[in-house]
Amino acid sequence: IKRDSRFAQLTEEHVAYFRELLGSESAVIDGVTSSDAADDIEPFNSDWMRKYRGHCKLVLKPASTEEVSKILKYCNDKMLAVVPQGGNTGLVGGSVPVFDEIVINMSRMSQILEFDDVSGTLVAEAGCILEVADQFLAEKGYIFPLDLGAKGSCQIGGNVSTNAGGLRLLRYGSLHGTVLGIEAVLADGTVVDDLCKLRKNNTGYDLKQLFIGAEGTIGIITKVSIQCPQRSPAQNVAFFGLESFDQVQQAFRAAKGQLSEILSAFELMDEGSQALVRQVTNNKRPLEDKYPFYCLIETSGSNADHDSEKLQAFLEDVMEKGIVVDGTLAQDETQIKALWAWREGITEALSHLGGTYKYDVSIPLKELYQLVEDTRARVDAAGLLGDTEEFPVRAVVGYGHMGDANLHLNVSTRRFDERVEKVLEPFVYEWIAERQGSISAEHGLGVMKKKFIGYSRNPTMVGLMRDIKTTFDPNGILNPYKYL
Ligand code: FAD
Repeated sequence: IKRDSRFAQLTEEHVAYFRELLGSESAVIDGVTSSDAADDIEPFNSDWMRKYRGHCKLVLKPASTEEVSKILKYCNDKMLAVVPQGGNTGLVGGSVPVFDEIVINMSRMSQILEFDDVSGTLVAEAGCILEVADQFLAEKGYIFPLDLGAKGSCQIGGNVSTNAGGLRLLRYGSLHGTVLGIEAVLADGTVVDDLCKLRKNNTGYDLKQLFIGAEGTIGIITKVSIQCPQRSPAQNVAFFGLESFDQVQQAFRAAKGQLSEILSAFELMDEGSQALVRQVTNNKRPLEDKYPFYCLIETSGSNADHDSEKLQAFLEDVMEKGIVVDGTLAQDETQIKALWAWREGITEALSHLGGTYKYDVSIPLKELYQLVEDTRARVDAAGLLGDTEEFPVRAVVGYGHMGDANLHLNVSTRRFDERVEKVLEPFVYEWIAERQGSISAEHGLGVMKKKFIGYSRNPTMVGLMRDIKTTFDPNGILNPYKYL
């Protein structure tokens, strides 16, 4: 890609305007007029995977909706391109610049504004960290309806902008259902106040839905109101080993049937992914023997005894029927955390081993794991997979949110390598398109999948998306080079 020549280059005059507007010294990191700022800017330029790297020279940290509005109006008038940035944990290269776009970082807008402990409605600024919101809610007996491995650094605004799915979508549904309202600023500085706190509101098009999953391409989300469920007093976690993907499917069916309303997560991990976590953490594995597949089941209910009885009965039943070979139940909070770490820790573990090619996809359940096997065979046939240094690929593994038919196919490499990428793309996307799957289940498009959108969306839909983009951001200053 080439830098879009319609965009202006940053000058001292621009920086002076932003300094005056934002006041506080720490709100502007300026590498335009000062060459000392390079180190300070670096973290805003590189993504979590260290796969994408931009060349921005200016980071702005607004503290209010009004400041966001003034920044955007100015940028729009001067044709300065921008990248909205939350916790910078996104996995498709959407949160960092491609060239010299200005980073608008939301970390200073982190306040929790309102909570109604009867309805469970939370209103917070977009820069509020997910874990902070969840801890606030825990004290009130509530839970944030989204949870994911990056909770300690990702922000609610980033979560909504990527339409993050996470570990309990199975139970609490998608952000398209739980987000009640949004306040956002459009490219020209217009503030869209749709910070509704009602569960029902059928007056006209539901515009907030467009911002959910828009990855900062049509506006900057400044506030969110969201429906939070009561926190279940009782939580149980089981971790078990299975011999085949067919049995994983049988176990999932049985879990839905027998655990029904208390089932809150059903996660899948293959042996390859667990071996890598073990290699990095050196922790003792939950089960003594190795199995091709592992599942983690979580229940959340109102009565601990009743729930563990149900989970115990479920485990006995599936073991008796030979669906599950071996399993363990967490006995306390520490063990619950330890079991979850085998699932939540995969992304992090892989990041310590080199470069990871990540494909976050939805596939009809029956064929979910076939993609991992076909990809592994393909990488192997190309002579790229092996145990020693000369092979770029260490392992091809699969894990994910089984309950949502969402697979994370991960190709763990010793270093990013174009030969590997060529073997994987567009192969993976073609494979998915043939099965009417989605090339992006929950991570979004960003830079990584921009050019592959056609594998999951037809030309009519892509055309309508372009129309929406143009209506909200006619100059195209918001997160350019990405998404569409
Ligand atoms: P960023 O990475 O900063 O930004 C993501 C995108 O949103 C960018 O395009 C950015 O421009 C835009 N954006 C950010 N803030 C705003 C805003 N206020 N207004 C407009 N646009 C904005 N995802 C899942 O769905 N499920 C998972 O289970 C999951 N697990 C993860 C585990 C780990 C260890 C990691 C590192 C990531 C995981 N992710 C997962 C990826 C997920 O997309 C992000 O973690 C999170 O939702 C992004 O939030 P963020 O604040 O870091 O956003």
